[in-house]
Amino acid sequence: MIRRIDLRGASAPADYRAVVPRAELDVEAATHLIRPVVEAVRTRGVEAVLEYGAQFDGVVADDVVVPREALQTALDELDRTVRSALEESVRRLRATCEAELEHDVTTELATGAVVTHRKVPMGRVGLYVPGGLAPLVSSVVMNVVPAQVAGVGSIALASPPQKDHGGLPEPTIMAACALLGVDEVYAVGGAQAIAMFGYGAGPCRPVDLVTGPGNIYVAAAKRLLRGVVGIDSEAGTTEIAILADDTADPAYVAADLISQAEHDPAAASVLVTDSERLADEVVVELEKQVHETRHTERISTALGGQQSGIVLVDDVDQGVAVVDAYAAEHLEIHTRDAVAVAARVRNAGAIFVGPYAPVSLGDYCAGSNHVLPTAGCACHSSGLSVRAFLKSVHVVDYSRAALAEVAGHVGVLAEAEDLPAHGRAVAIRLDEQS
Ligand code: NAD
Repeated sequence: MIRRIDLRGASAPADYRAVVPRAELDVEAATHLIRPVVEAVRTRGVEAVLEYGAQFDGVVADDVVVPREALQTALDELDRTVRSALEESVRRLRATCEAELEHDVTTELATGAVVTHRKVPMGRVGLYVPGGLAPLVSSVVMNVVPAQVAGVGSIALASPPQKDHGGLPEPTIMAACALLGVDEVYAVGGAQAIAMFGYGAGPCRPVDLVTGPGNIYVAAAKRLLRGVVGIDSEAGTTEIAILADDTADPAYVAADLISQAEHDPAAASVLVTDSERLADEVVVELEKQVHETRHTERISTALGGQQSGIVLVDDVDQGVAVVDAYAAEHLEIHTRDAVAVAARVRNAGAIFVGPYAPVSLGDYCAGSNHVLPTAGCACHSSGLSVRAFLKSVHVVDYSRAALAEVAGHVGVLAEAEDLPAHGRAVAIRLDEQS
């Protein structure tokens, strides 16, 4: 069901990235598939958006706007237990966002020489909420809460139109929008939604930043649109890596590998362990548990794909090197001294420590964000947070005396760069008044 990669006894490769499991269709390849979609939205706007909605989502519509009344009706009809769980998810995430909110930093370098690092919220953002295989209502929370805490003024949200819901997004997604006070919502999915945010289309004005998770086409569109708009990270097809030793509970490990495989047949579930006994027990558990789940076929495909696997290593040290190279979206640590092992990992979207912090907790209610970089991007990108919705601007405020104090150095550096007019722009201020 799940393949094995045995790295034991092998001399360490210069780069474990070459040997860790990866998906067949990578983001780069997917950009070639959706480039025409992005280009059509750029040139033909909402007409193209609607055409791709018909092609990919099977919804023929003449508008992309979700009426405000539909959002409110969805909230009125929302199951009370779902509402209460959403409220708890919002409460926990808002608490971490408020604690993480960065404030202006002012440094006085000398008398009258002041530099302020001012934090400015993005003006307008486009948030993507997946709705292909599963209606990810939790992604409404994960996108909207940090944007609101950062103080973003204009928030637009898009989620795929659903055939079964009259071409509107899934009702729980609409209800969560109403719960959080988001009223600019579009029934648009996939690459066409990201392009609509980037270029603007019909009623949707262009945004400054696009955030949110999605499948490989969404991640690929983000890669293509980077530069046209800001992008949080390539938060594509889900992956979980688990670093475990012989103290791990195979039933927990299997349940967690399955939980992320449930997202997408292309999802990646990777166990890295120095215990062959654990590996064998996890395989037995997988076989048992997969058949007890609702999405057996999707999960079996994901676990059997070349993006998933059990990687056998000599010891936890080698395991740390492997998971660091893999740079998983989600990394669980099930080892002795899990806190200390977690502290040695540099690259992961989010780290879940010990037996009682499964990724599913982080998906909904940990207080952390579940929008996380995938496909190795965790070595340079971070998960979504309030920080993603803030820009920073240096504000420079010097008095004449403070300028005079440093003018000589500016002049010397300007000459060294053969840019004398730079030096003159300083000198002219001091000459005139001397
Ligand atoms: P989605 O909303 O991301 O994608 C659905 C859209 O994909 C459709 O509306 C359609 O427009 C487009 N599409 C489908 N087939 C296409 C094709 N052949 N060519 C071009 N476009 C096509 O929903 P989904 O498919 O259910 O995927 C959700 C994804 O989000 C999963 O892969 C899940 O693993 C991932 N996810 C990632 C994170 C993260 O932070 N990294 C978090 C949660 C979920």
